[in-house]
Amino acid sequence: MREKSKSLFEKARKIIPGGVNSPVRAGKSVGMDPPFIASAKGAMIQDADGNEYIDYVASWGPMILGHAHPEVVAAVIESANKGTSYGAPTEIEVTMAEAIVQMVPSVEMVRMVNSGTEATMSAIRLARGFTGRDKIIKFDGCYHGHADSLLVSAGSGLATLGIPGSPGVPADIATHTISLPYNNREAVEKAFERFGSEIACVILEAVPGNMGVVIPDKSFLEGIREITGSHGAILIFDEVITGFRLALGGAQEILGITPDLTCFGKIIGGGLPVGAYGGRADIMGRIAPDGDVYQAGTLSGNPLAMAAGLATLNILKRENPFDDLDRKCETLFAGLEKAAQNAGIPATVNRIGSMGCLFFTQDTVTDFASARKSDANIFRQYFQEMLECGVYLAPSPFETTFLSMAHTEEMIKETVQCAEGALERIARKI
Ligand SMILES: *Cc1c(COP(=O)(O)O)cnc(C)c1O
Repeated sequence: MREKSKSLFEKARKIIPGGVNSPVRAGKSVGMDPPFIASAKGAMIQDADGNEYIDYVASWGPMILGHAHPEVVAAVIESANKGTSYGAPTEIEVTMAEAIVQMVPSVEMVRMVNSGTEATMSAIRLARGFTGRDKIIKFDGCYHGHADSLLVSAGSGLATLGIPGSPGVPADIATHTISLPYNNREAVEKAFERFGSEIACVILEAVPGNMGVVIPDKSFLEGIREITGSHGAILIFDEVITGFRLALGGAQEILGITPDLTCFGKIIGGGLPVGAYGGRADIMGRIAPDGDVYQAGTLSGNPLAMAAGLATLNILKRENPFDDLDRKCETLFAGLEKAAQNAGIPATVNRIGSMGCLFFTQDTVTDFASARKSDANIFRQYFQEMLECGVYLAPSPFETTFLSMAHTEEMIKETVQCAEGALERIARKI
């Protein structure tokens, strides 16, 4: 059925490690060779063999408008005609910074980078430079990209592949990273009691999307805001997924918590490689060349990337699709939950806005330990059945299902029907 994908994967594996340029794509945990993608439009994605799928991966989050949105495509083409990179300041970078500062009130100044990884890595260096402290706190199952300090008990591909950390990260570096269970305020308080004066920052996904979706406890977030403030530690929200997805002002707008620094990625690049970090002007002012904390990038603020990102943000601002996305996502997940119930398969849904996750466990999921109870065997079969039915999900039980503005009620109905059939067949086998 996917002969061309199969032969491309065989070829790729000889010359690209694992055949992929990012690990989860290989589909190891779902026991299946990945479809190679040839094109995408709106909510539909097409593989090299010409099969079409309803896409819920959305390039792992960026494609909130759907693929190949005409305004984004036009902006990129127009920009490309004027040259693809200058390594010098441009007007569109100023316009982009103004747009971000206006949409996200906690961001007074912002620096563009080329990926989410770069954004979190740079924000942590800045927090360390600003406070003169080395230790950082993160949370089990949160993923912040692949910088050394952050590859400790991380989510996303490490969760999928069962990798607790990574060889190549010096123990001397990992020792400065304290990883705590998510939604556990007491654990944070204890860590500050012990190491308070050494902690530079707390970094977290305000709404985690890399251990499946987890909903933050209000008192947990309030506790972190309070305790970082009173200890002079920096609070960093990693909004690489949630920024411009849950609201124009991100998760912080919905949750009513103001971080000191925020990291962006994914949507902010409209499908091109972009990240950004920003926040309090007194902290951001420490970055070179005004300050002494070094961070740079040959292609940072690249005009094509700015054009795609800015067009995306402008459309979101104009259309304000967030309520509509929320409604569609609710319909989808209500349907999936019911399908699991009817089939007698244990399931728990965590959902917020256009992000959701169906965990194959009866228990509520509030952190990485509970997320890991999701039955990987059921997920593997579910993933395979859904793909054959024309529904493209992320190949891991620990990833988020993303809705875009291009998903229609009809597609959602079709997806739920696929799930009903799939889960019934799986139930007969277990
Ligand atoms: C994807 C992601 C990152 C890393 O972004 P890259 O662009 O893949 O480097 C960081 N934080 C979160 C929350 C993410 O989901």
